[in-house]
Amino acid sequence: MAKNKLGVHTICTHTGEIKDEQFGGAVSPIYMASSYQYMDVDVKRYPRYFNTPNQEAVGKKIAALENAEMALPFASGMAAISTALFAFLNHGDHIVLQNEIYGGTFNLIVEEFEKMGIDYSFTDGIEANDFEAKIKPNTKVVYIETPSNPLLTITDIKAVADIAKKHGLITMIDNTFASPINQRPLDLGIDISLHSATKYLGGHSDICAGAIAASEVHIERIWQKAKNIGGSLSDFMCYLLERSIKTLAVRVEKHNSNAQEIAEYLEEHTAVTKVYYPGLSNHPKHDIAKAQMHGFGGMLSFELTEEYDVVQFQKELQVIKPSMSLAGVESTMLLPSATSHSLLTPEQRSEVGISDSLLRFSVGIEDVQDIINDVEHALKKAAIALV
Ligand SMILES: *Cc1c(COP(=O)(O)O)cnc(C)c1O
Repeated sequence: MAKNKLGVHTICTHTGEIKDEQFGGAVSPIYMASSYQYMDVDVKRYPRYFNTPNQEAVGKKIAALENAEMALPFASGMAAISTALFAFLNHGDHIVLQNEIYGGTFNLIVEEFEKMGIDYSFTDGIEANDFEAKIKPNTKVVYIETPSNPLLTITDIKAVADIAKKHGLITMIDNTFASPINQRPLDLGIDISLHSATKYLGGHSDICAGAIAASEVHIERIWQKAKNIGGSLSDFMCYLLERSIKTLAVRVEKHNSNAQEIAEYLEEHTAVTKVYYPGLSNHPKHDIAKAQMHGFGGMLSFELTEEYDVVQFQKELQVIKPSMSLAGVESTMLLPSATSHSLLTPEQRSEVGISDSLLRFSVGIEDVQDIINDVEHALKKAAIALV
């Protein structure tokens, strides 16, 4: 398979599009058929076989962006992640996972794997040797997520891929936070790149989808499992996803520059004790991020000092929406201690580094000054009166 010849903006705009032979329309037509002619054709098409025209079209676009031979669209990020894991893990196998991973993936592992006879270990840290330390004779897969949620830790992708290769293991990455614009893990030696396309690929907070990008050989194996599990994406959603990705590169560039500017603003602010953003030179893994990413992304987290009421702060925001999920064009904020990590005690939270004042900030593509003004205004209103 030829490597990228086109630039990412051109790939976003054009790659994979279905030519409208009938009317010469400028965009891919939507083929909603769930039943296709089967005689005298090479491909027997069916939505759950992941091979309808629109599924193939968006798959080609995502593959080109990831510099992968192939990609498949799924009905959700978790459909993609679970299918990939079950394609490479059987009863009696073992997987090594990064300690800090997306909550839904964590739940899948701890709620389902044991009863399926699949053994797992989470690392104690994120250095390459933390992964190697957990490898057992029956290990088959090494799984990473970088930048991580919500603390934006950075794992050295190539270092982990090299260790896994040395042991003959398959590597998977959740590439959702970076998006393929900021990070192309297959170029760094990772086998399988996973996405919640609900996030940056979709980008407008109106699509639930997922994707897997990998070599043809790995996609063939994943496809065998995918058609049995059945997490395929509808053609209408494929169309919307294709439409969304046309602006992915421009959106991500704006997310990157806004987040960088806001991270630097927050860092200087007396109301803020700590900012977590890989684009800041004081981030512990800034150099690795710089080497393996093309941009630092639109996600950051920060903590307020005790002089501010963090719940009141969110209520006073006018542009930024307090909201679950992330990576839309609009700025959103979320308090992990009240949402994703609310089931932990404050002590358990502090063990994993999530203070009760930690805010996760999905920086949107609004004018950056309007976002900063919004934060400034809300901070004034949320200052606890000191007597
Ligand atoms: C949202 C998310 C997922 C899960 O994706 P869904 O589309 O909600 O199934 C997986 N990984 C990361 C990093 C996410 O942010």
